[in-house]
Amino acid sequence: MDDGNPLDDYRSQALSLDRADSLRAFRQRFYVPPGTIYLDGNSLGLLSRDAESALSRAIRSWKELEIRGWLEADPPWFYLAETLGGQCAEIVGAAPEEVVMSGTTTVNIHALVHTFYNPQGRRTKILADELDFPSDIYALKSIIRLRGLDPSEHLILVPSRDGRTLDEEDIAAHIDDSVALVFLPSVLYRNGQLLDMEYLTRKAHERAIPIGFDCSHSVGAIPHEFTRWKVDFALWCSYKYLNGGPGATAFLYINRVHFGREPALAGWFGSVKEKQFDMSLEFKPARSAGGWQISSPSILSAAPLLGSLAMLREAGLAAVREKSLRLTGLFQDMTDELLSSAPYGFSIATPRPPERRGGHVALVHPEAVRISAALRDRGVILDFRPPDIIRVAPAALYNTFTELWELVRHLREIVERREYERFPGERGAIS
Ligand SMILES: *Cc1c(COP(=O)(O)O)cnc(C)c1O
Repeated sequence: MDDGNPLDDYRSQALSLDRADSLRAFRQRFYVPPGTIYLDGNSLGLLSRDAESALSRAIRSWKELEIRGWLEADPPWFYLAETLGGQCAEIVGAAPEEVVMSGTTTVNIHALVHTFYNPQGRRTKILADELDFPSDIYALKSIIRLRGLDPSEHLILVPSRDGRTLDEEDIAAHIDDSVALVFLPSVLYRNGQLLDMEYLTRKAHERAIPIGFDCSHSVGAIPHEFTRWKVDFALWCSYKYLNGGPGATAFLYINRVHFGREPALAGWFGSVKEKQFDMSLEFKPARSAGGWQISSPSILSAAPLLGSLAMLREAGLAAVREKSLRLTGLFQDMTDELLSSAPYGFSIATPRPPERRGGHVALVHPEAVRISAALRDRGVILDFRPPDIIRVAPAALYNTFTELWELVRHLREIVERREYERFPGERGAIS
């Protein structure tokens, strides 16, 4: 250590963490925009060369094989949803036939919640939480309305005590005999809290209530054990930590104990594969997660995942999680030591214990919207979430410890020079 200047000490620490990083080589396989520090992988993961060449191969097979690509492309388009589902199953702790690539996150919420929500007798309510992602709540309310029920009565949103976090005990206390279904996020999109899915599943099952999770903010960042936890269903997007590209086709998981069920939103791609082209008017759903597909899979929106999922499996989720926790841990320490006192005034809204954190850290500051604009102006890409949160999402496969140190340096300068005052106090259409 040098003369004890904490900023310099952290720089040395970040450099040596980078040198010792076993995942260091993966960064070279991504298109990291030159001159920028990209910390927005929880909104849109970066393009990798692996994903790009998988997409190029799909375009070439369309060009060369036209309709024959459904069976002759490598891998065949007709089975691509199941193929990718099987690969993704490996990183969520499920059997291959329990996961399929299909639709988009919100469409999958409709497909699965409609299947598992069976209001009967006193059990009529869906349990969610007040910190949930808005689209999830819109979907739940519309599903309740479609059943002829009133969301103001039948959707229970577990309140947060501090406006930022949820207490699993509070959620458990709301799981009573009026609840027909529990549907929760794995990681809260704003503050990055990771909920204890195993505990919540146990609590729901103690009362024989099905439970599902939206894992958009956790798959690809943390290991999941759906089979061991006995989760009934789950769904997640692929454009965040899975680096599948903007609007990439999503995934869903159905616990095998539910394979006999009738998918609520039927469509021909959910058919038993061998029967689909019989063109029968009797729908025969596949006895697998594949039964919950609706339409032809979007091959070009799925192809990049062949590259990016292979890369994630090569890296190993345990190593990804370990590095991710080191990255976010370092950033929390630097915030405490270098950004919390006057004049900086930053704090952290994400719970500190590793088992309660997802892949990003929520940095709190009253000037968050203007500071995130000033960061962008300096080439640091991350996002703002109202009212006062800057989300810092270091991705284990392509971010470095030194980039987080650079972020801290930028934040200090932006505040010291009151640079943020040059930026408007409103966010853009997308932030
Ligand atoms: C990203 C995300 C979504 C996005 O939904 P789309 O249907 O893919 O636009 C929904 N819910 C959660 C919890 C998310 O994190």
